[in-house]
Amino acid sequence: MQSGPQPADFADVRATNLAVVLRHLRMNAPCSRADIAAATGLNKATVSSLVADLIDRRLVRETGMTERRIGRPATMLVLDGSPYAAIGMEVNADYMTVVAVDLAGRKLLSWRRAFAGSSANPGQAAASIAALAKRAVGKVEKEGRRTLGLTVGVPGLVGGDGIVRLAPNLRWHDVDLRSALRKALGEPPYPIEVENDANLAVLAEQRYGGFAETANLIYLTGEIGIGAGIISEGRLMRGERGFAGEFGHLLVDPSGPVCGCGRRGCLEALAGVGALVARTLPDAATSSPTELEPEVEEVVRRAKAGDPKVLDALAETGKHLGHGVATVANLLNPDVVVLGGYFVQLAPWLIPAAEAELRARSIAPEAGGTRLVASTLELGAAATGGAARVLDTIDSGRLPTP
Ligand SMILES: [Zn+2]
Repeated sequence: MQSGPQPADFADVRATNLAVVLRHLRMNAPCSRADIAAATGLNKATVSSLVADLIDRRLVRETGMTERRIGRPATMLVLDGSPYAAIGMEVNADYMTVVAVDLAGRKLLSWRRAFAGSSANPGQAAASIAALAKRAVGKVEKEGRRTLGLTVGVPGLVGGDGIVRLAPNLRWHDVDLRSALRKALGEPPYPIEVENDANLAVLAEQRYGGFAETANLIYLTGEIGIGAGIISEGRLMRGERGFAGEFGHLLVDPSGPVCGCGRRGCLEALAGVGALVARTLPDAATSSPTELEPEVEEVVRRAKAGDPKVLDALAETGKHLGHGVATVANLLNPDVVVLGGYFVQLAPWLIPAAEAELRARSIAPEAGGTRLVASTLELGAAATGGAARVLDTIDSGRLPTP
């Protein structure tokens, strides 16, 4: 038996240190090699060698000199990453979104397409997802960038193997989306991941949203379904098999309407955007769910005009939402619950009723300090989160080869 450091440990230590330098630069750039050494506790020679490696891979670049208060002027460093792109996608019952960002998080493209997710079969859906991904990859590669990875968010239960076990609003059962995409994209050299959409959206909220440093943060997707992405004590809560956060299927009314999952009285059957549209615009109830966006705009228009029926329906939706949030607040005591997706546009009318219900149903005084806010990220936060997840793998030291 061998003991002591193994050769692999050296590579691990180096990857860890590269990740430390990259993360420091992401948070603090521009900074000098000496700044990095002082802040991270790595010695200057090590920092210089790590920075040389990062410059070789075009992940970091030098940018001018600065006058320092003490000592000689120093060369400043910033994240580069211009030759790379991270791609994220969000698939929903009524649309899909694709986003590409560079290493520094600058948006390279953001496209949204109507998509009849609830009527397409899984094969057709995979082909549509692959076609949009291919266009995005083609666009960034035409600009001379290398794709670092593709992460696709899906509204459902996704196993660690990339198989979508169940996505009620897409009517999917055991769909091996990752393999289908790998095949459709011609076995590309970059990794493809599939993840629950709410989990990706909360990562986007943590990286780019208004509550970036919040350790106890919940993001609610406001689509036909309502998924929860939960960050508890700084970590994404995925549960034993990755199926945590099925907020929309909390039982709130045993005699309530039938949910897309087949059960009765789930929260999303009462407070999902589809339920709200059906309640406020019964005349539109026969149209296809691919029309959700204009319908939500119509609800907003009528609410602004003071339509009492629409205002009542929004207050009722907010009340159900507050009921659900109180249940989660009693369990997890989050600092912030962020309303995402279509809920953002509806938030001015949903939040007052939801907050009152949250306070009434929370055991903790002042609802345990839980705040309810609208996301500042646009629709398709899960796509942004998918790209962020690709960047996270780079930040954790899995660097592209030079
Ligand atoms: Zn349900």
